[in-house]
Amino acid sequence: MRRRRIYEGKGKVLFEGPQPGTLVQYFKDDTSAFNNKKKGIITGKGVLNNRISEYLMVRLGEIGVPTHFVRRLNMREQLIREVEIIPIKVMVRNVAAGSIAKRLGLEEGSQLPRPIIEYNLKNDKLGDPMVSEEHITAFGWAGTQDLDDMVQMALRVNDFLSGLFLGVGLKLIDFKLEFGRLWEDEDMRIVVADEISPDTCRLWDVKTNDCLDKDRFRRDMGKVEEAYQEVARRLGVLPEVSAVEMKGPKLVQ
Ligand code: UDP
Repeated sequence: MRRRRIYEGKGKVLFEGPQPGTLVQYFKDDTSAFNNKKKGIITGKGVLNNRISEYLMVRLGEIGVPTHFVRRLNMREQLIREVEIIPIKVMVRNVAAGSIAKRLGLEEGSQLPRPIIEYNLKNDKLGDPMVSEEHITAFGWAGTQDLDDMVQMALRVNDFLSGLFLGVGLKLIDFKLEFGRLWEDEDMRIVVADEISPDTCRLWDVKTNDCLDKDRFRRDMGKVEEAYQEVARRLGVLPEVSAVEMKGPKLVQ
């Protein structure tokens, strides 16, 4: 059956879902960094991120954090609730790395005094500029109450995921969340959307400080596929399939 393609992003494709109000999220192996200037393929990444994101969203659902996730459909696809994406990327940081280290002259790996939240406007043309709460409410990207809900949820997700990852020997250095508005009759709820995976988190091994996330691709550190596999393995969600199966099936549309 041909499904209508709703949206194609850098790492995922969204298709019309089987029921109204649902979508199918397809995870690709394609990857990009530095505002699309660096592109590549990480073989099997789509399969692994589909599993990892499923696992983390289900765990979040269990502690009462609402998400868009419904269920996994197959190796590369999951069924999600259709939401209206809030055009703000919410970053939560525990340890200085990446852009904050550069911007503020902090040593990579130094503990931050407390979890720090930052916001980027989702806008490819502008390279996702950093914005403040003032900008977000003044331009109406999210209301004060929406933003308050997003911050509360982001901090709760941070506490929970920090503990979950620590349990498998990983430090959650920082991560990005996206939120969406879910409409149910007249009511609106804000839920966690998009994905949570080594593409959207920095994860360092507790003992060695080895990085097991997308920075391996960004910084040409090698062993990129292996890092995503290791995260899946530690979470207990590594699919038992051969490397050949991880490559397919090709997206036919
Ligand atoms: N991040 C993301 N998508 C983005 C920007 C950042 O998933 O568009 C994640 C990134 O992987 C890291 C965290 O958010 O875990 C903080 O990223 P940072 O601002 O340091 O940007 P980066 O150094 O990744 O450009």
